[in-house]
Amino acid sequence: MTTLTAAHTRVAELIAASKTLKDSGMLFRGGHANLSVKLDDDSMLMTSGGNVAALTSGDFAVVSLDGKVVEGTMAATMGEIIEMHAGIYRMRSDIASVIHTHAPHITTFSLAHRAIPLVYEPLLRFGLTEEVPVVPWAPRGSQESVQGILDRVVNHPGIFALMLANHGALAFANDLSRTVQLLTTLDEAAEMLILAEALGGAKPLPDLAIEQVQERMKSFGSRR
Ligand SMILES: [Zn+2]
Repeated sequence: MTTLTAAHTRVAELIAASKTLKDSGMLFRGGHANLSVKLDDDSMLMTSGGNVAALTSGDFAVVSLDGKVVEGTMAATMGEIIEMHAGIYRMRSDIASVIHTHAPHITTFSLAHRAIPLVYEPLLRFGLTEEVPVVPWAPRGSQESVQGILDRVVNHPGIFALMLANHGALAFANDLSRTVQLLTTLDEAAEMLILAEALGGAKPLPDLAIEQVQERMKSFGSRR
């Protein structure tokens, strides 16, 4: 299993990612978030406290994908967060990074229990083929909450983000920078959907848009 020392490059990447999230407003005012990357088949590297606004290299832990802290110290409140990350890595082999934040516009949709429809073209470029769903509220980290998340990701390869009802956003992708970009693009989409309400509401993309974007991205040699 990868050690914290061996993972120092990944630690630096997560610190940089949290700064990007902060600079782009994805942490909102509270700075609350948790970020992880998969290290190998058995473990992930994860932020170890609830606030990521000013991370240092001591703010990380190596956690096995069955949920045990292997190295580093986790804040007691993080115990309930671990399974949200580990479960996604266990269930979706295509995923190598998971980020949870209270990105303000996505979280607004989560408060309203409104799924985010795929009407903003840039979202299609992250491989999304389904609307971003809202997982019904359950206590943080409870079996019910985690199961609600996993139910939505296991059999839906076109879901790369979801909302926790009355709480926040969860995004995941095949690498860290892509996960950061997905989260910011989804928050843009959410913000513009709210603005579009004043103009009569967003209109759907043509039925063939998802297929066409995927075909074009293949022809450009993109990963998705
Ligand atoms: Zn949260």
